[in-house]
Amino acid sequence: MFPDYEAFKSRADAIRAQIAAACARAGRDPASVELLAVTKTHPASAADYAARYGLRAVGENRVQEAVEKQPHCTAKIHWELIGHLQSNKAKLAAAHFDRVQSVDSEKLLNHLDNASAALGKILPVLLQINAGRDPAKFGAELEYAPRLLEHALAKKNLRIDGFMTIAPLSDDPAVAARTFTTLRELRDTLAQKFNIPLRELSMGMSGDLEPAILAGSTQVRIGSALYGSR
Ligand SMILES: *Cc1c(COP(=O)(O)O)cnc(C)c1O
Repeated sequence: MFPDYEAFKSRADAIRAQIAAACARAGRDPASVELLAVTKTHPASAADYAARYGLRAVGENRVQEAVEKQPHCTAKIHWELIGHLQSNKAKLAAAHFDRVQSVDSEKLLNHLDNASAALGKILPVLLQINAGRDPAKFGAELEYAPRLLEHALAKKNLRIDGFMTIAPLSDDPAVAARTFTTLRELRDTLAQKFNIPLRELSMGMSGDLEPAILAGSTQVRIGSALYGSR
């Protein structure tokens, strides 16, 4: 069931504690890992809770769902698109989101860059990489990442903040850990090659935030642990 604010707050406190514990293990500053509240399928008040708790941003999977919720959300908060984006929705996404995390093709880069230019905005994006080589997941293949980044960096109306990935579903916790380490290593290699920071690593969800933080995640995307099951 959808929680009231007090229940949400105690769940968020518990996630914060989990983040802090993982950071302690990794020797990292807890302030270096952002909690992104994933509000998909939940009412607009889910975003209001996140703002009231002091979070910077919420994540949504579908463009249309966010467009419908935004007018009902009274608090000011950033909206990030974390779900697959079709190029025919790029215009709407550029207009309604503060960042798009699911960019995985040149075609999408072109559409988002053109849409952002028409809006007179610079749109921050992450490149989604299928770092776990999961046939069930979207995201660019690892081998294609350098070329995709090169194309992305040529876009005048996009700002490339870093990378996003989703670990394959698995009973073996080593699979998620390996996926996240692969993305971190890819980022390190490409940051050096192109001489840019590519700071953001959006990785880790309710079930695998610890291995993500150990591997260098800068943003965990948490839905069910905050708002309940969908
Ligand atoms: C739904 C979703 C999440 C949140 O997943 P939970 O397991 O509910 O925390 C994170 N990232 C993406 C891309 C999602 O679609």
